[in-house]
Amino acid sequence: MDYHVHTMLCSHARGTMEQYVNHAMHAGISEICFLDHLTLNKKGRDLSMTPDEVPLYYYAARRLQAAYRGGIKIKVGLEVDFTPELAESARTVAESFDFDVIGGSVHFIDRHNLVSSRTDRRQTEKPDAAFYESYLDLVNRMLDLKYIDIVCHLDVIKKFGTLPPDWFYDKARALLDKIAQTGKVLEINTSGAAHPVGEIYPRPGLLEECRKRNIPLSLGSDAHLPEQVGRGFAEAAKIIKNAGYSRITAFDRKNRYSVPIQTPKG
Ligand SMILES: [Zn+2]
Ligand SMILES: [Zn+2]
Repeated sequence: MDYHVHTMLCSHARGTMEQYVNHAMHAGISEICFLDHLTLNKKGRDLSMTPDEVPLYYYAARRLQAAYRGGIKIKVGLEVDFTPELAESARTVAESFDFDVIGGSVHFIDRHNLVSSRTDRRQTEKPDAAFYESYLDLVNRMLDLKYIDIVCHLDVIKKFGTLPPDWFYDKARALLDKIAQTGKVLEINTSGAAHPVGEIYPRPGLLEECRKRNIPLSLGSDAHLPEQVGRGFAEAAKIIKNAGYSRITAFDRKNRYSVPIQTPKG
């Protein structure tokens, strides 16, 4: 299953929804979930669909779901960008349709876009202590939102290759406690393996900590191109199994179920 797939609607991914679905089938994926960006803050809204486009997105996904029934399961959700003062507006959008799942991400700290190499290189490539603290604080506050089901790419702050210090992960463990308490699902995001840092999000060493806390996992490629659907899944499946997991979590109109982890071919 690939539970994190973008579309051209966010204007920095390429390919139609149908192309993503076809690539998923080609890659032997049994279930694909669109989780395209909903970013409301000024700095990031050019990198997202607009609230006006959400109906189009939602119904296009549901149409494909019906058209491909029997071939592949298709789900639809949003990757909501957490900005504290816009969290209520995002909730209104997220709850205006019967989405299968809502993911939550921190991509922005003030004016810095954590995931863009084009802007603010100083902080995004070599974060200082205050930057790490701000990031952790935002994730912590995001966990209070009931409408968020999945916590996406927990340590995406390492994207450009600087591994966070040990104290960052000590604090991240406290976030795992809160993820467990609030009953959220943690995403294994394989895009990190293709980014400069060269490893999945979160760091594989954190997965045993997740297992101890019984935190359910989802799995996503964060594909921004159709051919990226399912990338790195064979390796990720090994890492997840090694941490003691045998199942992965999926959603159907906010209801959870889990399926056994299968090691993909190739
Ligand atoms: Zn994106
Ligand atoms: Zn993201």
